[in-house]
Amino acid sequence: FPSSLTTTNSNSPPFLLRYFSVRAMASHVVGYPRMGPKRELKFALESFWDGKSSAEDLQNVAADLRSSIWKQMSDAGIKFIPSNTFSCYDQVLDTTAMLGAVPPRYGWNGGEIGFDVYFSMARGNASVPAMEMTKWFDTNYHYIVPELGPEVNFSYASHKAVIEYKEAKALGVDTVPVLVGPVSYLLLSKPAKGVEKSFSVLSLIDKILPVYQEVVAELKAAGATWIQFDEPKLVMDLGAHELQAFTHAYSALEASLSGLNVLIETYFADVPVEAYKTLISLKSVTGFGFDLVRGTKTLDLIKGGFPSGKYLFAGVVDGRNIWANDLASSLGVLHALEGIVGKDKLVVSTSCSLLHTAVDLVNEPKLDKEIKSWLAFAAQKVVEVNALAKALSGQKDEAFFSANAAAQASRKSSPRVTNEAVQQAAAALKGSDHRRATNVSDRLDAQQKKLNLPILPTTTIGSFPQTLELRRVRREYKAKKVSEEDYVEAIKKEINKVVKLQEELDIDVLVHGEPERNDMVEYFGEQLSGFAFTANGWVQSYGSRCVKPPIIYGDVSRPKAMTVFWSSLAQSMSKRPMKGMLTGPVTILNWSFVRNDQPRFETCYQIALAIKDEVEDLEKAGITVIQIDEAALREGLPLRKSEHAFYLNWAVHSFRITNCGKFSCGDFGAYSILDFGERGGWKIHTHMCYSNFNDIIHSIIDMDADVITIENSRSDEKLLSVFREGVKYGAGIGPGVYDIHSPRIPSEEEIADRVEKMLAVLESNILWVNPDCGLKTRKYAEVKPALSNMVAAAKRLRTKF
Ligand code: GLN
Ligand code: ZN
Repeated sequence: FPSSLTTTNSNSPPFLLRYFSVRAMASHVVGYPRMGPKRELKFALESFWDGKSSAEDLQNVAADLRSSIWKQMSDAGIKFIPSNTFSCYDQVLDTTAMLGAVPPRYGWNGGEIGFDVYFSMARGNASVPAMEMTKWFDTNYHYIVPELGPEVNFSYASHKAVIEYKEAKALGVDTVPVLVGPVSYLLLSKPAKGVEKSFSVLSLIDKILPVYQEVVAELKAAGATWIQFDEPKLVMDLGAHELQAFTHAYSALEASLSGLNVLIETYFADVPVEAYKTLISLKSVTGFGFDLVRGTKTLDLIKGGFPSGKYLFAGVVDGRNIWANDLASSLGVLHALEGIVGKDKLVVSTSCSLLHTAVDLVNEPKLDKEIKSWLAFAAQKVVEVNALAKALSGQKDEAFFSANAAAQASRKSSPRVTNEAVQQAAAALKGSDHRRATNVSDRLDAQQKKLNLPILPTTTIGSFPQTLELRRVRREYKAKKVSEEDYVEAIKKEINKVVKLQEELDIDVLVHGEPERNDMVEYFGEQLSGFAFTANGWVQSYGSRCVKPPIIYGDVSRPKAMTVFWSSLAQSMSKRPMKGMLTGPVTILNWSFVRNDQPRFETCYQIALAIKDEVEDLEKAGITVIQIDEAALREGLPLRKSEHAFYLNWAVHSFRITNCGKFSCGDFGAYSILDFGERGGWKIHTHMCYSNFNDIIHSIIDMDADVITIENSRSDEKLLSVFREGVKYGAGIGPGVYDIHSPRIPSEEEIADRVEKMLAVLESNILWVNPDCGLKTRKYAEVKPALSNMVAAAKRLRTKF
């Protein structure tokens, strides 16, 4: 651990002195990452869960992290420092604990909720599965979905908010305790089992408010002068009934909030006009926080009217990305806002919690110096917020501002950012469309002639189990401890093993198993220009799980073929079709930190052009089936419906660009469609990691792939209902027949049953049989019998035709 994290005596005099000698500035941070600069919390959690360390050890690590975060913000001069944004798992689950809303199956019988009940809800235990987890708005963070029914007896069951407030205070830091607001909490919940259809979770508002009142009273008694309610649901498309709940809740809380300053924080988008009107008319509220980065219309809303005498928390520092703030431009915006709300009512803030960005640039000694000067992680963003606040109060740090201006200028003019040829190729796409020349049924016929697959063909999604040995070889090759020759030999052996296994299992369309890939985005990012990688740029995804998104800083191009070597090698090992395996442009985009100096779609088009070149190279190399994974296409769907069409249009177009190559697009030159069957039969697969696609089904059809494999294991009915309702899908479709997220081995009967259910809705000539997703995280002991049962089930059903 870095020394700052191991010292628990940070309440020693120097710290206190520093804190009180800093002049109060109008600066605020919405929330801060919890994992620690080197993922200290992750390791402490996992060690505790594995029984290797005690609850006390975990508490100590957590307390050290909190104290170092508070100290860092207080040293930087932040005036409004948040507390209770730390969590051992998730802030929504913390709220569930605060409200005592534990589903009965976890056997909680009153009292303060401890780690055992808390982590059982989060992760399940030997006898009960975990609560459902879902994406936090359009981020890659996942929260634990509260399950609420009319029976829940709410009670004040976790004093965490108060404990953390006091803990900070004891360290000499007066913080702003943060709570998930009551209305957003309910709107983020789902009805408990059994009441699904009939129950409105919002009807519980009057039952949870008394607990909020108790918490507020206790915080007040402990000395809090401000309290922050996060109400991010306000940025969504809400109806009058939902908006009314905000008015109701905050007027019901009015009496207990009196004497306190109340901040309502919104983030991830601008607040729609109606919601804005509701929000600013809440009487019990002192300050309003808005996202000025993603909230492109926020400025206009405020210009259109802001209640006098109230505070505006202006989120100008981006909590969702890793770019250094353009301080001069932010200062311009802040000055404009100052003119509206008044000098003493403006607070500089982050656009949202810094939870969604990386932690500290200090731990990136290997990152290129110039690129590093363009970046700011959470620790640096705290400093930016304060620098802006100081500048507003007439104490501009000229050196800091001019260094920032120089970095901004270098980013604008750097040759490593701009690649003329790529810019031109992308510009040439403007107004264009890409359509395959043949329609899907003609293509399927031609491809069938070539591939000659049985009915209900079997395949897998791409990756096979990644053994420790495999990870070791890859790591050592990267560290240059293993020669290129030995590395190729090792990977080749692994591919051979996977190919032979699939032949033994009698799978129809094979994969090479992806043993050379650490991660489906990183693998491509490392070979494309315009990408940078961090050593410690981790962002929490859920619980102890973190992701390390690549940074797209420049125009994207493909210096050379990326997968042809391995795919050709794999194809040479078998007569069966071997899928070339690529990650699609939308997924690469959505799982990276994306440049903010051009629209996202432009970056996506650039990636699409690079992947298109790869598709063409694979086709030239004789790979007849190519899978372009768009695992994260749905993830990028904007929060508001009004923006869906625009996103889906460019996202789907980007996908089509990739597979509109010479052959797959049907541009056969001198050959007619009839020759096509003999000449090739290039088949484009795609894969998606969610079954929840009913609302975007028309966009998925519009992708015009030949086969789509899709996650399905946990919601057969939902996926199939869209087809039952009459949506025509002419291309191949493989709804996953078993859940790869679980070690459980599905039986042949079970799989056959599921496929039969699918056959009741889908034509037999388009149905594929495959698992839900890649097998990377499973063990061979699970994969072999599961796939064997899968193939047996497909064969059994084939005899019926
Ligand atoms: N081809 C990838 C794999 O099999 C797809 C992973 C994913 O969809 N997340 O691992
Ligand atoms: Zn998947």
